[in-house]
Amino acid sequence: MAAKFRDDVRNIAIIAHVDHGKTTLVDGLLDLAGAFRRGEVLVECALDSNPLERERGITILAKCTAITWKGVRINIVDTPGHADFAGEVERVLRMVDSVVLLVDAAEGPMPQTRFVTRKALELGLRPIVVINKVDRKDADPNKAHEDVFNLFVALEAEEEQLDFPMLFASGREKWATYRLEDERVDLGPLLDEVLRHVPPPPGEVDAPLAMQVATLDYDDYLGYIAVGRVQTGKLAPGERILLARPDGHREEFRVTKILGFQGLRRFELAGGAAGEVVAVTGMSDLKVGDILTSIESPASLPAMVIDEPTIAMNFMANTSPFVGQEGSYVTSRHLRERLWRELRSNVALRVEATDSADTFRVSGRGELHLGVLIETMRREGFELMISPPRVIFHGEGASRTEPYEEVVIDVDEQYVGPVIEEMGRRGGRMEQMLPAGLGRTRLEYVVPARGLIGYRSEFLSATRGTGVMHRCFREYGTYIGPIKGRQNGVLVVMEEGVSNAYALFNLQDRASLFIGNGERVYVGQIVGLNARDSDMLVNPNKTKKLTNIRTHAHDEMLRLTPPWRPTLEQAMAFINDDELVEVTPKSIRLRKRILDASARKRAEMAENKATALEE
Ligand code: GDP
Repeated sequence: MAAKFRDDVRNIAIIAHVDHGKTTLVDGLLDLAGAFRRGEVLVECALDSNPLERERGITILAKCTAITWKGVRINIVDTPGHADFAGEVERVLRMVDSVVLLVDAAEGPMPQTRFVTRKALELGLRPIVVINKVDRKDADPNKAHEDVFNLFVALEAEEEQLDFPMLFASGREKWATYRLEDERVDLGPLLDEVLRHVPPPPGEVDAPLAMQVATLDYDDYLGYIAVGRVQTGKLAPGERILLARPDGHREEFRVTKILGFQGLRRFELAGGAAGEVVAVTGMSDLKVGDILTSIESPASLPAMVIDEPTIAMNFMANTSPFVGQEGSYVTSRHLRERLWRELRSNVALRVEATDSADTFRVSGRGELHLGVLIETMRREGFELMISPPRVIFHGEGASRTEPYEEVVIDVDEQYVGPVIEEMGRRGGRMEQMLPAGLGRTRLEYVVPARGLIGYRSEFLSATRGTGVMHRCFREYGTYIGPIKGRQNGVLVVMEEGVSNAYALFNLQDRASLFIGNGERVYVGQIVGLNARDSDMLVNPNKTKKLTNIRTHAHDEMLRLTPPWRPTLEQAMAFINDDELVEVTPKSIRLRKRILDASARKRAEMAENKATALEE
């Protein structure tokens, strides 16, 4: 049977670098063509969107919105802003029939969007290019156009992809035109181009239902939400259908709701049919790649790409002496529940129980992915401890491989030397070095992910906040052997108490401190970086014997260097295997895994002995 096409539907994704104006443009499109068609919508549902995701410019879960233009429903699917989630990018792009590449007319295409663009081109999609923010005073739309063309050539675009339709636009002023000199009326020309250029989706509406879950969400009221493109057939609320998982799991369930998105709102739709991108609820369990299909004649579809985790760390219930003083959720039961809840919608995350009931091994796509989860948990009131992040190797011995990232760096001339040196130390291999205009240099590297852990904040301070760095997962490649870690030992507290200026003053010559005057500390807590390579037991609470009154006055004048307060990311990168980060809603503390000094010594000796025996 020849595939039919749904001429009343178009599915597109928008690819844009953060700040290039995607939100503003989509808002403009919603203004112009926001309404659903009559009879499509039942009810409006609650909005959802994780504030932390937005704040960080990452949309881990692809969000959809729909507009109706000249009787045609245009589904707009958001691409994940961060290319670490390559599998998600690919699954999203497979739901659509074309992409709109949105580029700031002043900045031109940015390295971060290169990955998603490359994927789109590889999948054979023919992009529409929109040079946006043409109203900017510093806009250079023709240069931006040229840069996009060169980018496509560099990404080995096919002839017909290079022949892309292009519009100039200002999302803020709500207009789009084919030529700069054309009259600027509204965003209509862009929507017209979508109708003309984007192929309508194949849509065998009368065939049995088949829809593959490209991405998912979970909601306390609605339960699992499956998002995907209906490949064939149709479905409506109340119908019984089958969920079939490639591993053989089957569930017959009744569809409770079919949801459409518009802006940040969800709407209940009267139904969904082949060619459309919809969200479906009602199943009791859900995974990406599951197939929703008809009970009588179930369809099978090829498996989908899922992101394998590249980095792992342990999450543990907090056992520090200060446990429970700053957070509300502190037990291992809380931790277990929270992590298992996260698994329902965080597709690239894995959680495994370990031998210890208090410890869970959590793995994901890079430190940022896990960092976002930890930050979210802090905000929710959790206390926990985490072990150093470790990359996940594949294979053994000579065939061992490790994850590599591609890194694009823009820096001022004077920082080029130091950055190159540091990247070398971290195992980076330079691929390109180019002038980036205005006295800046662009450096492109391929680096083992292991070497980059914690580099972001160091890079920012090394370039006094002026450097720009983009990184994303590239591939698994040859293991390059050990990378040098921290050279220095740490200061470890030997007595619980409250720090004072006198003691800190005496310590600061030999160390950089992580605490200030008047802070409570516990035995085994790490309060500074030793200038030497060994650990040192210290007492930051030690007071001076008061021999006369003047001493006190003198103490007031002790000048303390401001402490270094590591961020979560810095703390994760800082600690060694025998150390942990204690995370609470208010604090980030570093500590030894074994708090008691003599117990720690014994464990260390036992370990040395074991290693000696092995050798
Ligand atoms: P997003 O991060 O891609 O979603 O970008 P936003 O839509 O949030 O816009 C980022 C910034 O660019 C905001 O400050 C907008 O006001 C501004 N902006 C968006 N569209 C335009 C435009 O067409 N012209 C100008 N001059 N600024 C714009």
